[in-house]
Amino acid sequence: MHKVHLKPGKEESLKRFHPWVFSGAIAHIDGEPEEGEIVEVYTSKKEFIAKGHFQIGSIAVRVLTFAPDETIDSDFWKRKLSIAYDMRHSIGLTERPDNNTYRLVHGEGDNLPGLVIDIYARTAVMQAHSAGMHLERMAIADALAEVLNGRIDNIYYKSENTLPYKADLFPENGFLKGGNADNIAMEYGLKFHIDWLKGQKTGFFVDQRENRALLERYAQGRRVLNMFCYTGGFSVYAMRGGATLVHSVDSSGKAIDLTNQNMELNFPADTRHQAFAEDAFKYLERMDDTMYDLIVLDPPAFAKHRDALRNALLGYRKLNQKAFEKIRPGGILFTFSCSQAVSKENFRTAVFTAAALSGRNVRILHQLTQPADHPVNIYHPEGEYLKGLILYVE
Ligand code: SAH
Repeated sequence: MHKVHLKPGKEESLKRFHPWVFSGAIAHIDGEPEEGEIVEVYTSKKEFIAKGHFQIGSIAVRVLTFAPDETIDSDFWKRKLSIAYDMRHSIGLTERPDNNTYRLVHGEGDNLPGLVIDIYARTAVMQAHSAGMHLERMAIADALAEVLNGRIDNIYYKSENTLPYKADLFPENGFLKGGNADNIAMEYGLKFHIDWLKGQKTGFFVDQRENRALLERYAQGRRVLNMFCYTGGFSVYAMRGGATLVHSVDSSGKAIDLTNQNMELNFPADTRHQAFAEDAFKYLERMDDTMYDLIVLDPPAFAKHRDALRNALLGYRKLNQKAFEKIRPGGILFTFSCSQAVSKENFRTAVFTAAALSGRNVRILHQLTQPADHPVNIYHPEGEYLKGLILYVE
């Protein structure tokens, strides 16, 4: 096994169980490990400190274990997946009659950096974000089938757009187990088509489940605008919550089709709902300002990287300002950022600046984050990526 030797003092974050080794922390590497290979990491004093997947890039090693004698084999994957499953089971997510949609593995949050697994009814959708997880996909799929023991029939692998392009891995999306799966899953009693073939992420934004449920509580008698609707998740909950009107907006025509399909599954021919394929800023600009008293803003990550931060914050400010200007008095705004590079404080500043500029009186009702099946590893606080606020606008 190749050895990675750190510069003096660069083991500190690993001692605190942070699961990444940055390339700048490396003094030298014995030999030339392939991308995705397991390497051992040593301090400058030649003490073993971690073992993980090697990759060329700013994150050079993603740690799988801090134990020198733990080998990364099929038992390792079974152990890790069992721990992940037991946690979801213990918090009541796995056996609900009204819900078969949840995240089973959330990367660093489950001590499996580079791996995401979402469960949709009898299908698991697996996504690799590192070369190492890609190379291990069959071993992981075997372990997954064993751990879930009859609870799933299909494992779909969806990593064509999540792996480093330069690594020459040429991943192909497709079933690793099963196939021909029915793609309808249920979330808190509502049905959704999951587009794991072409959809974003693993086909659905599982991470908004609890926030959608919260929206349902506030929808009664309100006129709802779901901006950046994608599959229409928030819209369907708003309908069930008793909204008098629900408008879904997304710039992608495909997202609008998905929204309409999901609406049809749950509320066929219900005329309270309409969907529009349009740019968010244009829609907010042209819309009538007495139209909505509940607005959801769940945009895509405006900052994918740190260097895009300034523009991203400006984007959040402008977007939220438009919503504050247009929402009816007594309205409720659900506003989100899923950019990991945007901190909670930065997001709040952008939203509060927007509120001040709009001249509206705004109070915080709820502060939101990602749900429990997207846990945050306390040694990797960067894993807390979803931020949201529910605001009452006078
Ligand atoms: N709220 C959704 C997830 C939103 S993902 C859910 O709960 O599932 C972000 C969506 O924003 C994508 O569907 C994308 O097509 C859309 N989008 C990106 N830029 C946009 C823009 N300028 N105007 C409107 N929609 C946009």
